Amino acid sequence: MVINMAPGYSEEQLQHIIDRVKECGFQPHVTRGTERAIVAAVGSGGVRTALEALAAAPGVDSVVPIAHPFKLVSRQTRGERTRVMVGDVCIGGEEAVVMAGPCSVESREQLFTTAQAVKAAGASILRGGAYKPRTSPYDFQGLGIEALKLLRQVRKELGMPVVTEVMSTADIELISEHADMLQVGARNMQNYDLLRQLAKAKKPVLLKRGPSATVKEWLLAAEYLLAGGNQDVVLCERGIKSFETEMTRNTLDLAAVALVRELSHLPVIADPSHGTGRRDLIAPASRAALAIGADGLIIEVHPCPERALSDGAQSLNLNEFERLMKGLNAPIRPIGGAVSSAMGDKQKVNGHSVYSV
Ligand code: PEP
Ligand code: MN
Repeated sequence: MVINMAPGYSEEQLQHIIDRVKECGFQPHVTRGTERAIVAAVGSGGVRTALEALAAAPGVDSVVPIAHPFKLVSRQTRGERTRVMVGDVCIGGEEAVVMAGPCSVESREQLFTTAQAVKAAGASILRGGAYKPRTSPYDFQGLGIEALKLLRQVRKELGMPVVTEVMSTADIELISEHADMLQVGARNMQNYDLLRQLAKAKKPVLLKRGPSATVKEWLLAAEYLLAGGNQDVVLCERGIKSFETEMTRNTLDLAAVALVRELSHLPVIADPSHGTGRRDLIAPASRAALAIGADGLIIEVHPCPERALSDGAQSLNLNEFERLMKGLNAPIRPIGGAVSSAMGDKQKVNGHSVYSV
């Protein structure tokens, strides 16, 4: 249930509602806007009818059920869109944010060269995998702690916040010391133990959508983080499994980006690298993602993709990334349909308009 406080409510009235929500057996989560406040009452086992009765309490505007199983993530429980700070970079604000860097950190030179180039091209957050979830145990698994140290050095030298993946609860503390944002990879979206622990971490989380997860499952995974106390969550659409297995690696579900922005107050970004798996589709997919409302992008970049130890086929080289960044601000093509005079004179043939050129 959501208890919407009326404009001009007093602190005592709000406190009374918080106390009553607890007495009714629910946990209160309060969001304060400039004029209003919202108290989301979540949990199971409480007395719902007692909550409904709070509509009559002083300072309350309305009490409404939350329409979806995800509660704190729902737009209903927060009037404004959430902005997540990663270092000094704001995700979910006016400007779209680009995170870029190699799939895997491979060496100091590879990371530093990439970071410098993506920063110069306009990216504001550096990505780089230290612990890699690989489909095959024989593939490169990441440099681990060595990569974390490199990320920390480059972060300091370039003043760029860093996002990197956490695969195990055992690594959360260590990775938190080296990175500004913790990525939950697609394969771990439903690792509830990991989510519960990350809810207690004092770092923002980038929550990728599982390749086979529905939008509801994805938002419920985010609910674990918010319910456990971490409000700084950014969602990431990275492509889902579909019947297409040959031409693209995954199917980038851009409608889900728009949908999630309707259903939730959390920022959402798109990953066209994993979402398409093809270097040639990353620029158009990036433009489409921003056009549909994504709050940002995460893109894989490597100084020499053919030598990359992971995901080379979907990594842009430094020039390609620079070109992509320049193209992101180009206008989408205008809507037309009117035939210009260059097309010639219009004639009617059998009742249809045709043009002679
Ligand atoms: C990655 O970001 O390199 C990665 C492994 O992503 P995903 O979890 O989306 O496959
Ligand atoms: Mn990758």
